[in-house]
Amino acid sequence: SRSRRGVPPIRMAVRSNIVSVAPFLTKLQRDSATPLPVLRYVADAMTTDMRAGLATDGGSDLKMILSYVDCLPSGNEKGLFYALDLGGTNFRVLRVQLGGKQERVIATEFEQVSIPQELMFGTSEELFDFIASGLANFAKKEGGKFHLPHGRIREIGFTFSFPVKQTSIDSGILIKWTKGFAVSGSAGRDVVACLNEAMERQGLDMRVSALVNDTVGTLAGARYWDDDVMVAVILGTGTNACYVERIDAIPKLRGPESFSGRTIVNTEWGAFSNGIPLTEYDRDMDAASINPGEQIFEKTISGMYLGEIARRVLLKMAEVGDIFGKSVPEKLSTPSALRTPDLCAMQQDNSDDLQSVGSILYNVVGAESSLSARKIVVEASDAIVKRGGHLAGAGIVGILQKMEEDSSGLIFGKRTVVAMDGGLYEHYPQYRRYLKEAVTELLGLEISKNIVIEHSKDGSGIGAALLAATNSKYDHDY
Ligand code: BGC
Ligand code: MG
Repeated sequence: SRSRRGVPPIRMAVRSNIVSVAPFLTKLQRDSATPLPVLRYVADAMTTDMRAGLATDGGSDLKMILSYVDCLPSGNEKGLFYALDLGGTNFRVLRVQLGGKQERVIATEFEQVSIPQELMFGTSEELFDFIASGLANFAKKEGGKFHLPHGRIREIGFTFSFPVKQTSIDSGILIKWTKGFAVSGSAGRDVVACLNEAMERQGLDMRVSALVNDTVGTLAGARYWDDDVMVAVILGTGTNACYVERIDAIPKLRGPESFSGRTIVNTEWGAFSNGIPLTEYDRDMDAASINPGEQIFEKTISGMYLGEIARRVLLKMAEVGDIFGKSVPEKLSTPSALRTPDLCAMQQDNSDDLQSVGSILYNVVGAESSLSARKIVVEASDAIVKRGGHLAGAGIVGILQKMEEDSSGLIFGKRTVVAMDGGLYEHYPQYRRYLKEAVTELLGLEISKNIVIEHSKDGSGIGAALLAATNSKYDHDY
């Protein structure tokens, strides 16, 4: 009989053969270990790969994409602007009425819908029609404090969170899909043109004034409130980072000097791979993914993958060992059955009998577990999450260290803010702790006091709208 909450009682019948499973845990911990020298190697490799990517296109795993964002929000932005955000699990639309230095954000409204699974595997037209119709519905409800001067077209900041080769601030070509998207008919196309065509089909007259990556939107959004923001990182379904770079530190950029002499560079660090400790589970997951060999850093540190790595570990422990008794729970064989939020929930269980670990295992993958099995599950999860958080921290240090090398003292010698967004960072305390631990260990206590990692929740929406304002087709002063 089961207890009230669907928790299977710890029964002797579900005797796990811990002796047979323990070596798998040990091996997992060994293969995914991230001691300080490994983290130092990764941080240095990140710095080196950044330089190589800045030197020539295709010179490195890191694409170091120019954002064409040469002017960061100043606070003076005024007027009504829209933002569209397409990236991971959700699609968001937002409008904001900006009031300039004194009033700042006068009003903001947004709507969010989750992206239907089939659209991730459909055609480009279907996806963009979905976006444009969401936008059209939202735009219809404009009123109240929102006001567009007569004769103007509504302007949009479009956050598109995939690797895009920007050709200007308002155009760019999709390089490839990530995060499980496999939309046909969009590779090599200008994503703004795709959106414009879909808006036309909706009879919607709006104009994209800025096309930005979510990291770039986050940096702009955070910078609006805080001049010390120099880096932005996303740790959610996928992962990426961008930062403020000096034009003269970008050899591959041959063109007119930008006004400020600085620009935002989108690193696309998800594609980084140098020196990352990998396990057999990572290799198998990568081989089975829709983008094998790609996004290796992303696959070891981001939310889309941590749960799946753990599932593969547990499956092995059930198949070769007897962690959940003699038989292998059927659901455990289903890809993505265990998600990162499940791992997170299990790791919050501090009780002696690990009751909630037991009920999560039972409810999510149909596994009945002994106490010793639950302990192993928690330890395996911790190994995966520790590597993820540590590597993310090392990546951040790699970026900061590159900036510091080029501008001695300007990063480490004063307050420097890393704007952070994404559900993984927001909701996973252990992950957050491991990330900070790596940053502190690598930089030392003194310097790391100057580095502020600030959660900038949904900053990329407002950030994109701000960049639409900064890059408005109209004069700013109205
Ligand atoms: C994409 C990046 C994006 C990141 C976070 C990655 O998969 O390649 O462009 O910034 O996810 O959303
Ligand atoms: Mg996002």
